[in-house]
Amino acid sequence: MGGGLAGLSAAVRARQLGLSVAVLDQGSGDRYLCNSRYSGGILHLAFRDVADDPASLRAAMSEATSGFIDPSLATLLSENALRSVHWLRDQGIRFIRNPQVVWQRWVLAPPRAITGGLDWEGRGPDLALRTLLAKIRELGGELALETRVGQALVHEGRCVGVRALQGGRELVYEAGAVLVADGGFQANPDLMKAHVSPQPAGVLQRNSGMSRGDGLRMAAALGAATVGMEAFYGHLLVQEALSNPKLWPYPQVDEIACAGVVVDPHGKRIADEGLGGVYLANQIAHRDNPLDCHVIFDSAIWDVQGRQSRIPANPHLLRGGATLVEAPTLTALAARIGVNASALEQTVTAHNHAVADGTAANLEPSRSANKHAPAPIAKAPFHAFPICAGITHTAGGLRIDAQTRVLNSQGGVVAGLHAAGAAVGGIEGGPQAGYVGGLMKALVLGVVAAEQVANQIKQGD
Ligand SMILES: Cc1cc2nc3c(=O)[nH]c(=O)nc-3n(C[C@H](O)[C@H](O)[C@H](O)COP(=O)(O)OP(=O)(O)OC[C@H]3O[C@@H](n4cnc5c(N)ncnc54)[C@H](O)[C@@H]3O)c2cc1C
Repeated sequence: MGGGLAGLSAAVRARQLGLSVAVLDQGSGDRYLCNSRYSGGILHLAFRDVADDPASLRAAMSEATSGFIDPSLATLLSENALRSVHWLRDQGIRFIRNPQVVWQRWVLAPPRAITGGLDWEGRGPDLALRTLLAKIRELGGELALETRVGQALVHEGRCVGVRALQGGRELVYEAGAVLVADGGFQANPDLMKAHVSPQPAGVLQRNSGMSRGDGLRMAAALGAATVGMEAFYGHLLVQEALSNPKLWPYPQVDEIACAGVVVDPHGKRIADEGLGGVYLANQIAHRDNPLDCHVIFDSAIWDVQGRQSRIPANPHLLRGGATLVEAPTLTALAARIGVNASALEQTVTAHNHAVADGTAANLEPSRSANKHAPAPIAKAPFHAFPICAGITHTAGGLRIDAQTRVLNSQGGVVAGLHAAGAAVGGIEGGPQAGYVGGLMKALVLGVVAAEQVANQIKQGD
């Protein structure tokens, strides 16, 4: 169920192991939209090279998620990471190494251009998916497009297939096993409201818009358990991105926010900026009004941190048409953005003192400095952007075991049902919304799911 990297990897691997396979995807045309195709194509685990030794990868994932990751899934990912990437390479998929960044050794080639807005056609992830699709066809697997899976077939408590809709017709697929690989639930406003944000319309869909939690609902009807539903992977974007497609998925404003301060309409900081853009995006999405925050910074931050990422905010936000709010004093800036001026001055003064004294941990809320160092906000002109949370994919989802089998709330197995990729919970999230790497989660769990199903069928289970 789903033909992103998780579903396609599982399908190719399963065919190679002699299973009959059908990939059902709701998209149309060979370049159907999905997050895998939109992605930056960087394969990593917790921002580490997947060739690192498994013990250090496990430790990095545990640290990134503040211990939230299920240890058995951390082991599964770390021990199968390199061989899964090699397997992908053996299917004819090309990689390029970014010599400047150690953990970017495996980037799907060619990489995206250094520009704002979407840029996926002909880029590495698009080519990789097309290669996998060709492989499935060459190996005699079935690919059914415009086919939306909605319900499981159940026999004596076991999932024995699915019902799907194709152009208004109901199709029934019987199967020894079903893999949920539908990419999460970020594009479903009801599920978003139930778990992620009281105002889903105020959270920008930084994704393909194709994943509506159908797999989650289908599995829940079979008693499946979920885990970590409130967290998501995403980034901070300017609010103008809600109406200007040149301003998402890049450039992000993470680097600026992590150096400056993020404030509410009262001029108060809302969270620990030092924990990073993914954490801040989660904090903003959880607010009653996710569109009431500004990032405040100065011209020095704009010139240094603003130029730091691969597709930096400075100058790409301006090239994309974003409005940089500018004023000679903080008081004037506060007036322009409708924020309480004296409170904003107090916030920035406290921030600057803490930066100078190295006492950011004593701020309220506390400000950590080990991941992202704060910078002074002192050099005029002063700047602001109204910001919003951009959701790439949900981090919560189906609870699985180390054989990718979906578990029920008693810890037992939902027989016949597996899950991979962004449909899976228990890997990313935790108190700081830790991110481990969506493409590896899709690739490794997809490959392993196919192998586990092949084994189970061989053993007559
Ligand atoms: C802009 C952007 C940049 C990213 N960059 C990176 C990166 O550099 N590195 C990284 O590790 N991760 C990155 N990610 C995250 C990564 O792309 C995802 O985590 C990963 O691709 C998820 O793969 P998947 O197969 O689980 O889901 P997807 O690729 O989203 O595929 C899910 C598929 O399921 C289909 N589907 C949904 N519901 C149904 C249904 N009911 N019936 C049939 N089909 C259905 C959808 O149409 C879709 O085709 C990025 C994501 C985005 C959007």
